[in-house]
Amino acid sequence: MSNYYWCHGPNCHTYKTQDRVRGSKGSKVLRTRKVKQNTDRSWYNPNNFYNYFCSNGCYNEFANAHVQQIIRIAPRTEPLETPIDDPTKEKHTTGYGHTYYTHEINLKGVDTTE
Ligand SMILES: [Zn+2]
Repeated sequence: MSNYYWCHGPNCHTYKTQDRVRGSKGSKVLRTRKVKQNTDRSWYNPNNFYNYFCSNGCYNEFANAHVQQIIRIAPRTEPLETPIDDPTKEKHTTGYGHTYYTHEINLKGVDTTE
């Protein structure tokens, strides 16, 4: 297995940065960036999207270009719900006499049904 992927950003090869300039004099190009894969490192996560994109911008452009296909992978036709206890309202007063409220929300569990 190679130790890099090409960035999947559809416009990666169009950005004018020095590290993208490749080729010999007279036939230079801007080339898609390589994304190094640190597969020998303990922290390497094969499911991290940064393995496939050189930047957030390239990821966003990919996601925007392919959002219809992406959501068809796991369509959300109904909302998920997380059971909670009845929220409690708590009154706080600062040393300056300002009053504010917080709402305590405690989970009963998380719906993991997909
Ligand atoms: Zn890129």
